[in-house]
Amino acid sequence: MTKPSFFILEFRRLAVAVGLAFAVWLITQDWKIALMLGVAGLAVSWGWQLARLYRWFSQPDDLPPIGGSGVRGILHDVYVLRSRGPAASAQRQRPQPYLKDSLASMRDAALIINSDTRLVWCNDAAEYLLGIRFEEEEGKPLSDVVPGKQLKRYVKKEIFQKPLRVKPGPDPEFCLQFEFSRFGADDRLVFVKDVTEQDKLERMRRDFVGNVSHELRTPLTVIKGYIETLQSLADVADKTLHKSLSSMDTQVIRMERLIEDLLWLSRIESVEGERKDDEIHVVDALVDIRDGLAAAWPERDIELDIRCEHRILGSAIELRSAISNLVVNALKYSDETVTIRWIDSVVGPSLSVEDAGEGIEGKHIPRLTERFYRVEKSRSQETGGTGLGLAIVKHVAVSHDAKLFVDSEVGKGSVFRLVFPIDRIVSPSL
Ligand code: ADP
Repeated sequence: MTKPSFFILEFRRLAVAVGLAFAVWLITQDWKIALMLGVAGLAVSWGWQLARLYRWFSQPDDLPPIGGSGVRGILHDVYVLRSRGPAASAQRQRPQPYLKDSLASMRDAALIINSDTRLVWCNDAAEYLLGIRFEEEEGKPLSDVVPGKQLKRYVKKEIFQKPLRVKPGPDPEFCLQFEFSRFGADDRLVFVKDVTEQDKLERMRRDFVGNVSHELRTPLTVIKGYIETLQSLADVADKTLHKSLSSMDTQVIRMERLIEDLLWLSRIESVEGERKDDEIHVVDALVDIRDGLAAAWPERDIELDIRCEHRILGSAIELRSAISNLVVNALKYSDETVTIRWIDSVVGPSLSVEDAGEGIEGKHIPRLTERFYRVEKSRSQETGGTGLGLAIVKHVAVSHDAKLFVDSEVGKGSVFRLVFPIDRIVSPSL
């Protein structure tokens, strides 16, 4: 049934008022009194309706006053809207049914947690993968549902760019990957994947590279020893033999460097997910690195530009190797002064290594951190490069939640910048 319009309902009230005025005129034959009484009747009727409306607004749980006028229509609509309000907001509190429906039918495990990280909902796949029953876990903090400090810390930090891998045990191989995304007002949608096989394969690859590199060390040391012996025994006049032995020696040194870098890279990778909490005195470390490299490259200028005193949390040994790689590259690929800068920025402390050397063409920049990627292979070999230096820098950056930026212009030079997140700063100033 359609609702009568506001005007039809009000017309009735008007008709009653006109009827009243007409009756008074019939009795009194005075049209002024009749008009006044008609208007007064209309005003009293509206006033009474408004008084009821006012009363109802102050007692929202009551039913609306039902009067016989257009106000009634308005009251009805307001009543419907008011009663829909709490229901609608309750609906918003709960995950949207359509989202739940689509997630419920997924094969991937999905959970919804609220702003307190408490479990609001999960699908069957999540129950199966995590070995839980939703009825028993509903409302519990996620860190109780999936125990482990790593997940607790990750959720608390609220930085969800990188997925998190967790081994919840007791099976030491069983590995889960959590990916968080925000949705709704304050809820989080969490996808969980079983990455045990992937994790195993990655570990096998790392172990293989590590083991092969390690195994190559001994024969290489033996070969190096023989070369030295042959060099000392060879006839001084035999220039060809000396040249061959010297070339063999250079290649063995290259292989040694390569093995050292491969071993170091596999070590960094194997501890990538681990928390690194050494308090690093960056300024002291930079002075040390500069002094060490200045001694190895006495003909070169290495400048330090220290504009902040921040100490950061991380792995001192990894950071040292990343900075050394950047400075050695700057020394190798330029002839002028190399500058190491440590400054504060709005996004976090920034460590840059700058040179005014040959620079790098833009098209190479996105690939520089790939293993064995070189802009010019012969140039890299000439300078004794292994092609692994920037891959090491990149891994160290990732394990310190830092970002690596490269700005370079051919013929003008390069800037390699590591920007650390603010939450790695130990204290703002010494
Ligand atoms: P490499 O051992 O060959 O130096 P890296 O991984 O350290 O390997 O660097 C990869 C490549 O990036 C280098 O071969 C070089 O072409 C380029 N590169 C790195 N640093 C610089 C720099 N400061 N200036 C110019 N090119 C650079």
